[in-house]
This record gives sequence, structure tokens and C-alpha cells, in this order.
Amino acid sequence: MQVIVNKTRLTLIQGEITRQATDAIVNAANSSLMGGGGVDGAIHRAGGPAILEECKKIVARQGRLPTGKAVITTGGELKARHVIHTVGPIWHGGDRGEADLLASAYRESLTLAVTSSLKTISFPSISTGAYGYPVDSAAEVALQTVIKFLEKEVSLQEVVFVLFDNRTCEVYIEELERLLSKSA
Ligand code: ADP
Repeated sequence: MQVIVNKTRLTLIQGEITRQATDAIVNAANSSLMGGGGVDGAIHRAGGPAILEECKKIVARQGRLPTGKAVITTGGELKARHVIHTVGPIWHGGDRGEADLLASAYRESLTLAVTSSLKTISFPSISTGAYGYPVDSAAEVALQTVIKFLEKEVSLQEVVFVLFDNRTCEVYIEELERLLSKSA
């Protein structure tokens, strides 16, 4: 599914984010930035050791990455020249600021792409794997946050959501259709 939001193409696809050729791909990292399972493991495996080396330097300089923040490294051997690492919230039932933290993870990643003069960026579904965030609520926060950002910021050409499994992809598509019909 593809729509235009202000000046930017917003694309939802099912796929594997490590194969994306956007300027950056976003990693759903953890605060240690030392790699992990899920999409984090896949990105480090596909991108090679250069990514972890840079992550170690960042942690030595500024400590662990707080939830909702983002940093940028090389993409190593990936097609994407950069990886933006962000930390989504762990789901605790919804009353511990999870939605604000998830929105912040998307917003901080987008801001870092813009300040790094990047034009295209791919996101996974942050927090909906090991971190347990319900996919329908996460899709609403993710898409609303990206749309709101693009309504003010015109320098990005494309934002892609690369959804790994069919169900997650369907939920994001339904949610985007719902948000667009609400705003029409
Ligand atoms: P988190 O810890 O933030 O929940 P996970 O990596 O466990 O992160 O899961 C986030 C989402 O990324 C899940 O929907 C998972 O299916 C998906 N995912 C896992 N591997 C990949 C991949 N290679 N490309 C895109 N999405 C992926």
C-alpha cells in the first residue's frame, strides 16, 4: 500500500528490512545497543561487525540509550548506508507511558534522518515482537506519529514500513486506511 502524505511517499510492505535500499533502516534495538534477537539480530548479522563497533563507541561516550531515543551508525555491509537504532518501550499493560515512548522512538528516528540529510527511511514494527506491544495499538501510534511528522516536515522522499509477517502487515494496512478515512 502506498499513499502520499504532504510531500512524502508512505509505503507499507511485507518483507525483510535488512534487504531495504533506503538511506537508513531503523533497528528496534535495546538500551545496551549490543545486539539481540528479532530484527536487531538480523540487522547485525546482515550488516557485519562495523555496526556493533560503532554502537560500542556510542555507549562508551554517552551510556545506554534511553527508551524513546535514537542514534545513527553506519549500515556496514547492508544496502542501506545507515542504521538508526532506537529503543521502543516494553509493554506493561499500557499505563506506563508506552504510547508516548513508542511515539518518541518514531519521532526521534525521523528527526535524526532529517538532521543527517537522509531522504528515505525504513521502519520495522517497533516493540511488537519480544517487547510485547499489541500490534493494533502499536500500528495506530506508529502511523499517527509518522503522518503528524510528515505534515510538518517536507524533506523526506519516502518512509517505508517493512512488516515481517502477514498479520502485522494486514493490521498496519487496516490502520492506515482507518486513519485516512477519518481525516478525509
Ligand atoms: P521488539 O523488541 O522492539 O519487540 P522485535 O525484533 O522482537 O523487536 O520485533 C519487532 C518486529 O520486527 C516484529 O514484528 C518482528 O516480527 C519483526 N521482525 C523480526 N525480524 C525482522 C526483519 N528481518 N525485518 C523486518 N521485521 C522483522
